[in-house]
Amino acid sequence: MSLLETALTYLPGVGPKRAAVLASELGLYTYQDLLLYFPTKYVDRSRTYQIRELRGELPSIQLRGYIRDYKELGEGRKKRLVAYFTDGTGTIELTWFRSLATIRRLYPEGRMFLVFGKPVAFAGGYSITHPELDDAEKEQAVGSGLMPVYPLTEAVRRVGLASRQMRQLLYTLKELLRGQLTEPLPTSLLRSAQLMPYAEALEQIHFPETKELLEAARRRLKFDELLFIQLRLLGMKLERKKTSPGLLLPRVGEHFRSLYASLPFDLTEAQKRVLREIQADVVSGRQMNRLVQGDVGSGKTLVALFAMLLAVDNGHQACLMAPTEILARQHHASLAELLEPLGLEVGLLIGSTRRRERTRLHAALASGELPILVGTHALIEPSVHFHSLALCIIDEQHRFGVVQRSGLWAKNASWYPHILTMSATPIPRTLAMTLYGDLDISVIDELPPGRKPIQTYHVSEGELFRVYRFLEQQIAEGRQAYVVFPMIEEQEQSELRALQEGMMRYRERFPELEVVMVHGKMKPEEKDAQMQRFVSGEAQILLATTVIEVGVNVPNASVMVIEGANRFGLAQLHQLRGRVGRGASQSYCILVTGSKLGEEAQRRLQLMVETNDGFEIAEADMRFRGFGEIDGTRQSGQLLSLRIANPATDGAMVQYTRELAERILEADPELSQPEHAPLRRRLDELFRERPSWSQIS
Ligand code: ADP
Ligand code: MG
Repeated sequence: MSLLETALTYLPGVGPKRAAVLASELGLYTYQDLLLYFPTKYVDRSRTYQIRELRGELPSIQLRGYIRDYKELGEGRKKRLVAYFTDGTGTIELTWFRSLATIRRLYPEGRMFLVFGKPVAFAGGYSITHPELDDAEKEQAVGSGLMPVYPLTEAVRRVGLASRQMRQLLYTLKELLRGQLTEPLPTSLLRSAQLMPYAEALEQIHFPETKELLEAARRRLKFDELLFIQLRLLGMKLERKKTSPGLLLPRVGEHFRSLYASLPFDLTEAQKRVLREIQADVVSGRQMNRLVQGDVGSGKTLVALFAMLLAVDNGHQACLMAPTEILARQHHASLAELLEPLGLEVGLLIGSTRRRERTRLHAALASGELPILVGTHALIEPSVHFHSLALCIIDEQHRFGVVQRSGLWAKNASWYPHILTMSATPIPRTLAMTLYGDLDISVIDELPPGRKPIQTYHVSEGELFRVYRFLEQQIAEGRQAYVVFPMIEEQEQSELRALQEGMMRYRERFPELEVVMVHGKMKPEEKDAQMQRFVSGEAQILLATTVIEVGVNVPNASVMVIEGANRFGLAQLHQLRGRVGRGASQSYCILVTGSKLGEEAQRRLQLMVETNDGFEIAEADMRFRGFGEIDGTRQSGQLLSLRIANPATDGAMVQYTRELAERILEADPELSQPEHAPLRRRLDELFRERPSWSQIS
């Protein structure tokens, strides 16, 4: 076992208690994990601010001065310690909520300190909460002036590990590992890509000597991160192509043809292209594993349907898995409408399917009598057996992880069904390459002709009366409307109240109309019943929390009002907007917010007003929110957790490392050539199954 894999508990300064917290809070188990735990920012200590020059919004900064006196404020759990810190040009407050006695002892009044932290404007002055203080005399010890700040949680701080102690641990580790780190990249590559050596990059990222060296270190480490992910993803893809035979579905048969002939419109060029890509996959003799991306309404489901007919016409079965019951029902209804005229039965299997129906479905699937099944994850339960499952469509919507996908693969003894994943949220290309790099990717980048672009407006709450009037007009013309309220999990109770308050408001304003309400806390039957009243046209306004995000198709609905729109992510807003614009009439999306908005919120909403292009919005969303938030499922699948690279801003590097990985694996698929040995070793190191450290310590 290499030194890098030593459990952190053995690192001087850690010990069992801290090791346990580092593991559970930050996922750090070994020396290597800590070494690769990079700072998220650096405080520039080369510059010392004066208190009188503090103005506006500030980053973390450094001040130099002394504490004039202390005051304890508040009671019980709200108790806090406030220090009045001055440098002769002004005074600011330093505030602590914990370890009050210790703080007073460590930082006596009158002694000179360097203070680091982010000043927040407060009662006419500034305040820094939980600042870091260093003895001003020992200033020299700090080095370049760039001081790393590590992302830490409260629990980590509680065991005495703040950024400063993390730096200490990393220093100890760096000394321990001196001369022990192998360079994973071939020298030729270091030279051609102009990369800083690995050991040096690790040193500079934690202890930067200059800004330039830090930049070079970051570039090198991003490069490694992306390259090894690409090697891993492409490796998986190659491996699957080698070892996973796929059923051949060569025949384009009767059902496929009659559906094609019966459509009242032509497929778009993009749909045809993707269909050809799928057809090529299913005659290749290998398992298809393809992601189809496209904006809402681009016609993904229709493409998926044709793919299912390929399976059926070749004597096999197909299934479609949706993330929620409502969506499964809707898919089922629309597929049945198109397929039953062709004499094909479509089954529906969801959590609430009755026992008798369930038994019937199980039998019909096992005998092969039932060609197509739609369902939720109920359809991958072990009790479900197919006679001959050739294709599974996954309507992903970000909810199915790799694990559930693999459950499907075990549905046949001798082959893996072809897998087609449909992603309803367009993902920028470089992100898709990183998240789904082990899949083949198709893009439907064209909307069917004749769609009227949805008109989007941003209004403030004070103008709600105008929104009401507009709704009135639309409804008088026979249309229906959605009104969506934000729902955030931690605050379910108050959000629910907001929805109920909204319900009263709309009922009061529209006494002559039917207003229904659905939310995530309702029983499924009740939710469906309410939804059904809207779908049937009996109700004109549907108030909802985001449960409608993934579902419902009501072509007659022409208005989407989103209250508290600034609380939604861009991708989510775009999804919601996609609920309208499905019928012939002009549709509208109205984003309602308070009148005081931050600059970023303002820009995000403006973007929604300006564009209907899901890809453009996805790119922007990734920039605004950063990468981490985009796809939780896939990331937590352990396949990917990016520490330093960001596909949003490092797109060119994603592209470059992807091509490089392709070239390397093409020449040497197993990385068995001597020059690739360090690559191989590093890849194994990075993606090896973890031993269960929790059982050791
Ligand atoms: P997505 O799944 O991408 O949101 P769907 O497949 O559900 O899109 O299609 C949305 C609507 O557009 C459906 O009513 C579908 O019948 C219709 N549609 C699909 N392809 C075309 C096309 N080429 N021309 C016209 N309408 C189409
Ligand atoms: Mg769809």
